[in-house]
Amino acid sequence: DVSHGPILYVEGVSVSFDGFKALNDLNLYIDDGELRCIIGPNGAGKTTMMDVITGKTRPDTGSVYFGQRIDLLRQPEHVIARGGIGRKFQKPTVFEALSVFDNLELATASNKSVWYTLTHALTGTQRDRIDEVLELIGLADQRRQLAGALSHGQKQWLEIGMLLMQNPRVLLVDEPVAGMTGEEVEHTAALLTSLAGRHSVIVVEHDMAFVRSIARKVTVLHQGSVLAEGTMDQVQNDPRVIEVYLGE
Ligand code: ADP
Repeated sequence: DVSHGPILYVEGVSVSFDGFKALNDLNLYIDDGELRCIIGPNGAGKTTMMDVITGKTRPDTGSVYFGQRIDLLRQPEHVIARGGIGRKFQKPTVFEALSVFDNLELATASNKSVWYTLTHALTGTQRDRIDEVLELIGLADQRRQLAGALSHGQKQWLEIGMLLMQNPRVLLVDEPVAGMTGEEVEHTAALLTSLAGRHSVIVVEHDMAFVRSIARKVTVLHQGSVLAEGTMDQVQNDPRVIEVYLGE
């Protein structure tokens, strides 16, 4: 892989809840266009990490930079969401009474600020973009269908498509294959892999087979910091990682 340098810098981030350190000097660097999987046992700090990156939780110490210029800790949450970092929660939240196409149209960014220009990839017209996204998520044939009539997997892909309408540079995806059929899992792997390059994709996932099938680089979180980082083979053979997972 050709490295374009980091797009996201998380440096020395700590977050405490009532004296308990959910994140403890977390350092994480995500390259522009890379696909990264974040794994770790329950309570490792994965959700808190996503909350910090998206501005939902402010850390006690540390810094989070988008590119080299933008201090994310100085940006309100809605600006971060609109401005280049999309987050997909586990439960899909599509507009069930609207068509697939209309869901994507609604998700299109409307006001283009300097921030927007700084952080968004260039695209053609809005309609072309919707067609492009429909192809990407594999729902071109369902464009006129009501979102409420889609399968669980299709709703997840539609929601990823809605995030893509904002042209995020970074996409955070929380447990994308939970509850999916084998076929849907395969489609999701292909979709997330195809997004890398144009976007940086951060996937938090428990399904190890899925992580193995998509990730070039895996980060293992434990007790709020990075325990190991590398290929799936490297981290799975790391004695510290084995110990943590056996102890779960
Ligand atoms: P993960 O997503 O890896 O399971 P979390 O980030 O959800 O881990 O949680 C890390 C730790 O911080 C857990 O022990 C959790 O109980 C604690 N924690 C998370 N959010 C809060 C909160 N709002 N208040 C108190 N404790 C919290």
